[in-house]
Amino acid sequence: MAQLIANRRDIEFVLYEQMEVETLLKEKKYTGLNRKMIDMLISEAANLGIKEILPTWAEGDREGVGFESGNVSTPECFKRPHQLIREGGWVSLAEKTELGGQGLPHVVACALREYLHGANSVLISFACFGHGTGKMIELYGTETQKRLFLTKLYTGEWAGTMLLTEPQAGSDVGALTTSAVKNPDGTYSLSGNKIFISNGDHDLSENIIHPVLARVEGAAKGAKGISIFIVPKIWVNDDGSLGEPNDIVCTGIEEKMGTHGSPTCSMALGSKGICRGLLLGKANQGMRIMFKMMNEARLYVGYMGFVFSSVAYMYGLSYAKERLQGKDLSAGKDPEAAQVPIIRHPDVRRMLTWMKAHVEGMRSFVYYVYSRFDRAACAGTDSEKERYNEQIALLTPVVKAYCATRGFEVCIQAMQVYGGYGYIRDYPPEQLARDCKLMSIFEGTDGIQAMDLLGRKLGMKNGAVFMDFLGEIKKTIAMARDVRGLDDLAEKLEGATEKLGETAMHIGMQAMSPEIKTAFSFAHPFLMAMGDVCMAWMLLWRAVAAGPKLDDIVNGKKGETRSEIVRHDASAAFYDGQLKTAAHYIETLLPETLGKMEGILRGNQSTVTMDERAFG
Ligand SMILES: Cc1cc2nc3c(=O)[nH]c(=O)nc-3n(C[C@H](O)[C@H](O)[C@H](O)COP(=O)(O)OP(=O)(O)OC[C@H]3O[C@@H](n4cnc5c(N)ncnc54)[C@H](O)[C@@H]3O)c2cc1C
Repeated sequence: MAQLIANRRDIEFVLYEQMEVETLLKEKKYTGLNRKMIDMLISEAANLGIKEILPTWAEGDREGVGFESGNVSTPECFKRPHQLIREGGWVSLAEKTELGGQGLPHVVACALREYLHGANSVLISFACFGHGTGKMIELYGTETQKRLFLTKLYTGEWAGTMLLTEPQAGSDVGALTTSAVKNPDGTYSLSGNKIFISNGDHDLSENIIHPVLARVEGAAKGAKGISIFIVPKIWVNDDGSLGEPNDIVCTGIEEKMGTHGSPTCSMALGSKGICRGLLLGKANQGMRIMFKMMNEARLYVGYMGFVFSSVAYMYGLSYAKERLQGKDLSAGKDPEAAQVPIIRHPDVRRMLTWMKAHVEGMRSFVYYVYSRFDRAACAGTDSEKERYNEQIALLTPVVKAYCATRGFEVCIQAMQVYGGYGYIRDYPPEQLARDCKLMSIFEGTDGIQAMDLLGRKLGMKNGAVFMDFLGEIKKTIAMARDVRGLDDLAEKLEGATEKLGETAMHIGMQAMSPEIKTAFSFAHPFLMAMGDVCMAWMLLWRAVAAGPKLDDIVNGKKGETRSEIVRHDASAAFYDGQLKTAAHYIETLLPETLGKMEGILRGNQSTVTMDERAFG
């Protein structure tokens, strides 16, 4: 079976031709970094991914995790690549070098991580969760906390987690009951039970640093009274050496649909004695601090949804080129006609074009959002920086929920391309779909993301941030008008963008009226419509970058027609594919989105007025 983890041609197109990363490299922050180095890093990531990580993907899924005598074990095949990922410095690609990172732009890190996650996302999670824990400590920790934990987390030497969920506190984090009592030495004693904790315990690192949400005794009810604590699995002494095991233990692991190589743990804190923790930041600021990490984690989860879909598409495409079945429609009833690869059938092409459009649209979209971090880091003024950060805030729930949802749908579509084999465990789409489904559930479900978009993000600065986002789309539309053949697509995207603005205004106002429940019943369709418009935007932008390149190739070859050139020149075929994908999405799929927006504007109230008994 082919070894497919990432599409280098498309990654390079997005980096260099669409996002024009080489202009970013001129910034002082990235002095010394150039395209040649980035290309070398991509090759290294590809090498690591194919040779060391990919072989663990199906094996890790089949072996799964173990839980015996209170100890959690990971698949044996994870040990060596986990070590290589750490030693190779692949954990904190965009963090400062002095803290154990690589100092790369986020958008470049996106490209490199495609090879690691595309090879085995579950394995990568062990090294990368520590990065999120480290980020909170970097931003909110004391100097001592930074000294004790930061580098070890950023380099992946120690692992990290995220302890929010309790049985009665899932989406409703504010309902948590884990408590913390201050000790005379300034540490806190925690007690409570957490569930569903990813990588809550395992045997891949000598220590695990848990950020735990808990309520200091006497603190207010709800989210306002929540604080965050650093709770090491093994206590860390002031000189950095390891002390006694802390009283935070795994009491069981879940049987799950997917991500079998990652233990999902129930955790007991303080059940055997004293579970010691250090307050991170100030008391009662736990949600604010955790949200800093959660927002980055949400983007990351959306990114993973995209990566699953990218891999699924590559497998679907490869299979469609190899699998012989049926005859070409143009052969009519000729009994002698040979079987053809299924990619010749229009309905299979429909599935592949749908997948290609979404995968490439999502790649551009997530790279674009991550590139805002780089622009913010290089911004000349505070207001410029603020603008980039607001764009990230607005688009985070869209990346998270849209890419998780569409990512899963692409995996399911890949199963469909495989026919019966898609349903069989020996073939990759089945595992990709199982693993990808989680992206819509953890780090805040799709529904919670949609509520965040409608309830918090649309109204940022009285809608000015959303209007600024629409303005960015309009810049691409203006560029498209200058490219031969894109006028019509530009006009259609302009219509959809205006309709998105109108729908946002409608639903935003409705959310502040007595019809608030109707508004929120449309929050998810709205998020998906916004994501669809982002896909159309990204694909048109790709066409803007591709069109002139194709013209150059065609103009350079005299005596051949455009379609002849496209048939035998891989580069011409790639650029032509960009134009055709944008046309397909905008002409064929975007009208569905216009219909969805029409439904939101009509605002039928059945969802909220139907009596609970009427649901059946
Ligand atoms: C494999 C796995 C790994 C996980 N890893 C972690 C981890 O590392 N750390 C951690 O803390 N947690 C983790 N979780 C927990 C995860 O974040 C929660 O499952 C998720 O937030 C949803 O909570 P819940 O399961 O209690 O569902 P519920 O909150 O009960 O939600 C059920 C449904 O109701 C909807 N809903 C709930 N409240 C509202 C509302 N107010 N408005 C509209 N709709 C609503 C939800 O969208 C959902 O569709 C993990 C879960 C899984 C399955």
